[in-house]
Amino acid sequence: MPRAPVEVWELPEPELEPDSALLEVELSEVCGTDVYLQQGRLEGVPYPLIPGHVSVGRLGKIRGRLLDVTGQPFSEGDRVTFLDVHRTCNACWHCLVAKATTRCPHRKVYGITYGVDDGLAGGWAEKVYLKPGTRCIGLEGVDSEKFMAGGCALPTALHAVERAEVALGDTVLVLGSGPVGLSVIIFALMRGALRVLCIGAPEHRLEAARKLGAAVTLNVETSDERAREQWVLAHTEGRRADVTVEATGVPGAVAEAMRYTRDAGSVCVVGQYTDHGEVFLNPHLDLNRKHLTVRGCWGSDFSHFYRGVRIMADPARSEGWSLLKPDRYDLCQANEALADVAAGKVVKAFITSRGGPSKMPA
Ligand SMILES: [Zn+2]
Ligand SMILES: [Zn+2]
Repeated sequence: MPRAPVEVWELPEPELEPDSALLEVELSEVCGTDVYLQQGRLEGVPYPLIPGHVSVGRLGKIRGRLLDVTGQPFSEGDRVTFLDVHRTCNACWHCLVAKATTRCPHRKVYGITYGVDDGLAGGWAEKVYLKPGTRCIGLEGVDSEKFMAGGCALPTALHAVERAEVALGDTVLVLGSGPVGLSVIIFALMRGALRVLCIGAPEHRLEAARKLGAAVTLNVETSDERAREQWVLAHTEGRRADVTVEATGVPGAVAEAMRYTRDAGSVCVVGQYTDHGEVFLNPHLDLNRKHLTVRGCWGSDFSHFYRGVRIMADPARSEGWSLLKPDRYDLCQANEALADVAAGKVVKAFITSRGGPSKMPA
């Protein structure tokens, strides 16, 4: 429930519908969205719910046929992850005319917009019920822990970097050093950025940013906007960044992203997943006169998720994520995990399926 501690519940195993499966969860993640869910900051959430949108595990039981995107059938025992977005309809105005499937009004997200009434539809559990039509992706050759170190930030960051149209040789500024910001650094370099600058906090996350390839970092908590602007100018030959990706969750960062980007550069806003309020900007100085391109980036689709998994199967390309050291929490420690993520104490937190009701203290 919103604004209440997470509780461990015992729920019956569901009857499997045709072409569905039961996933035995290995790892699920705790991300900023879960903190917002607990704070009751997201709209249209059918509480109570089982949190946990991106998870990995083994297919315990399959009823009927479960196929991958190439048409190959999955078998019981296969290690998989699944696209948390379900029921994108590919038939509505958003899907077919606007070609904006992440805005399809029919889509549901495991662990976010599916509640307990919809069944075992979240990853902070021993088992997840994979409803018919859920898209699974095999994890052959993919290390679970490394993949989950990217977690839901992986498709989000991949989408944002694509949307920002990072070009060969660009200087990219990343605002935010949470999981999305950190994955944006890796993908921006992969896409050909020459240098990545990162402004974020706290210090241990900036250290992670540098390990992942950020050339320089600046602590947002110990600098004001003027100092940040001077810092960006100093690291861009006085021109500002070619591309800026905002991944902070702070509305003011959007205006700053525009101010730190060069004339005719581009800004991608991916960090405003919940409504944190309004912001002041000067449309003449910050946008029009700069000939700036500003894009929002909402959610991710199967293509982002699939390519994220494929990159994780490549040892060299995915090395960066193995440098992130996630912290593990049992189901019983979910509240602790949420508090640590909310406080930015950890780079990434996992929930393991251990510590279910049978192991609860009396
Ligand atoms: Zn649709
Ligand atoms: Zn998430």
